[in-house]
Amino acid sequence: MEQEVRVRFAPSPTGPFHIGGARSALFNWLLARKQGGKLILRIEDTDLERSTRESEENIKASLRWLGIDWDEGIDIGGEYGPYRQTERLDIYREYTEKLLASGQAFHCYCSEEELEAERQEQMNKGETPRYSGRCRNLSQADRERFVAEGRKPTVRFRVPENQQIVFKDMVRGTVSFESNGIGDFVIVKSDGIPVYNYAVVLDDALMKVTHVIRAEEHLSNTPRQILIYQALGLPLPQFGHISLILGKDRTKMSKRHGATSVEQYKNLGYLPEGIVNFLALLGWAPPGEQEIFSVEELIENFSMDRVAKNPAVFDIDKLNHINAHY
Ligand code: GLU
Repeated sequence: MEQEVRVRFAPSPTGPFHIGGARSALFNWLLARKQGGKLILRIEDTDLERSTRESEENIKASLRWLGIDWDEGIDIGGEYGPYRQTERLDIYREYTEKLLASGQAFHCYCSEEELEAERQEQMNKGETPRYSGRCRNLSQADRERFVAEGRKPTVRFRVPENQQIVFKDMVRGTVSFESNGIGDFVIVKSDGIPVYNYAVVLDDALMKVTHVIRAEEHLSNTPRQILIYQALGLPLPQFGHISLILGKDRTKMSKRHGATSVEQYKNLGYLPEGIVNFLALLGWAPPGEQEIFSVEELIENFSMDRVAKNPAVFDIDKLNHINAHY
């Protein structure tokens, strides 16, 4: 039997829902609907300072407005609420214990100031700054001293040496990184909150996600994530990193280029069908010349192998042209 396609959209609720996030959600949704699979909505709210419920509500309202529905989450009485990472801390803790017990992770007692001094020193020598590994092999006495000083440790992942991390990206083809370029990185902060690269792996694995489709800016996070999958003996999903969205002047799309959030476009009077049609064509090239697609046609035609790796250019004239058809 073919494996069920399980994808997720995993936004951080830290601000207005950006049009690029909507495109990631849409590609995941189109793949799930095309393949008869499932879309999971997961709110990645581990950045406690920047995450807000207001932003989460805005993301959900924007997704609903666009017609992007999700299939799994916590049952909140007839409807699925999203998963929230801050409600899953016990799960992450369990895995951290395992990694610490096996020596694949270790406590790091370095202060911010010490780490900064280390970075400066490396940069002065013309080196790329990376964690030197100074807490890798602490003696019991050192540990006790740090604890007595009241230092609160982070947990760092022990990156294996001389390993090539190779994966086949659905959009970018074969991608490879050297583990030696990656210093032992923090997976749990000193307040016990996991960082993105760690929580994302545990959730994707536990939620049995088969395809991780996300923005290209995460490409350099992927080798770190793969190392964690490997350390825990978890099966890897397929990754697909979709290109940046650029403004017409070919710089990264930002406020300078005009409206950037879904809500702004809604308030400007654009129709959800027009936005969906336009976003689908932002990086995905359907066969043939057709430009106006119903949602059903988008689902029918969608495939990851027609997603381009070149940056997509946000052309407002094209959006207006498409929107005028609805
Ligand atoms: N929370 C991350 C973001 O919003 C998710 C990245 C991912 O899909 O893995 O950028």
